[in-house]
Amino acid sequence: MIEEKRIVLRNADLIDPEKIEDYLQAGGYQGLEKARSMSRPDLIAEIKKSNLRGRGGAAFNCGLKWSFVPADAPVSYVVCNFDEGEPGTYKDRIIVQKDPQSLLEGMAICGHAVNSKKGYIYCRGEYPYVVDLLNRAIDQARNKGVLGDFDIEVRMGGGAYVCGEETALIESIEGHRGEPRFKPPFPGVAGLWAQPTVVNNVETFANLPSIVINGAEWFAAIGAPNYPGTKVLTLTGDVANRVSIEVPTTATLREVIYDFGGGIKDGKRFKAVQVGGTSGGFIPESLLDTPIDFDSMRGIGATLGTGAVFVMDETRDIVDITTRIAKFFEHESCGKCNPCREGTFRAHEIMKKVNQGRASVQDIENLTILSQVMEKACLCGLGQAAPAPILTTLKHFYPEYQARLQLN
Ligand code: NAD
Repeated sequence: MIEEKRIVLRNADLIDPEKIEDYLQAGGYQGLEKARSMSRPDLIAEIKKSNLRGRGGAAFNCGLKWSFVPADAPVSYVVCNFDEGEPGTYKDRIIVQKDPQSLLEGMAICGHAVNSKKGYIYCRGEYPYVVDLLNRAIDQARNKGVLGDFDIEVRMGGGAYVCGEETALIESIEGHRGEPRFKPPFPGVAGLWAQPTVVNNVETFANLPSIVINGAEWFAAIGAPNYPGTKVLTLTGDVANRVSIEVPTTATLREVIYDFGGGIKDGKRFKAVQVGGTSGGFIPESLLDTPIDFDSMRGIGATLGTGAVFVMDETRDIVDITTRIAKFFEHESCGKCNPCREGTFRAHEIMKKVNQGRASVQDIENLTILSQVMEKACLCGLGQAAPAPILTTLKHFYPEYQARLQLN
């Protein structure tokens, strides 16, 4: 049985998140102190070497992202993406609620690496109760002087899913409507107020203090070599234990669901698991021995994404669930680009037809082509990922579609 391994949640339930003294006592801010003793290029090289990959879902090499910020930029920003809008995902909330100083320290380490004096935490609109805790943590860090000349401000989102996309998030902080920008330029070159900006997820930042303290090689040796470290996962749905855990990235889905989730509740049988939230793919029983690391998941046509693990038992109606997800994407599409605005609408329309037993084989063909076009043509991750549940359920659970089709 695989054991939990705690890097990000190393202080969870061991310290009082409201007391910076507890964090300092547990070795807090030693990572920042060490980082500040290093030159910026050395710090970036160390993080690059650790192969820490973004934990917001896209798994981009963190140090590489930092290296895009021009060394001579007079102004640059560090932005923490705490929008966490993916249904079933609450890992970032857990991290912040259990140990907010880890996030602040990670942001300050990044601030040193890219020569930034200002950080913003963009917090999901549905988390007002976490904002107060965060603000108190920032005040304590300021008062203790541990952040030095780096300052952090919290900005609230308004509840739009698309604002988790980094450029829509930047637009929102600037006070504009939250719509994605065309990339390039990437934020590393021109982000917030057109200045170089690093946008990283809460979990990515929270990994940094331990990496700086223990070194890149220590981190790179944990979990899967291509996606090292741990992953914080949130288990929801029909598992016996709906828990959040932190495991090395070599853990398999089966270990996650059965060893930590306690298997399927009420003695029922497993049917499917959707990993990565609504934008993740559906995975059947036959693929449960896949490790959770980003590339292994991608290898089976699924995504690790945010690490949301939504388990469905044998009684669940795959077509109905996929139809509800299609409705979610239609609702959350910002409408800026045609393939997403029209595509999410049409995909939901066809899914409703299937769900109600009114669809033909031709509808399924149209749905497949539409999904493939959206994956390629949509402007941002929302529209590109929206077809994943449709395509993976068509692939692995086609009999459930077939049973609903009109065969004339
Ligand atoms: P992406 O691969 O386009 O970019 C990932 C990061 O790398 C970005 O910060 C981007 O700026 C940077 N980057 C990529 N290529 C670059 C280049 N050539 N030069 C400079 N920087 C570059 O992915 P994305 O659209 O940012 O994110 C998509 C992911 O978001 C999905 O995989 C999904 O899992 C995840 N997601 C997360 C949530 C959540 O609640 N956390 C919600 C929805 C989706």
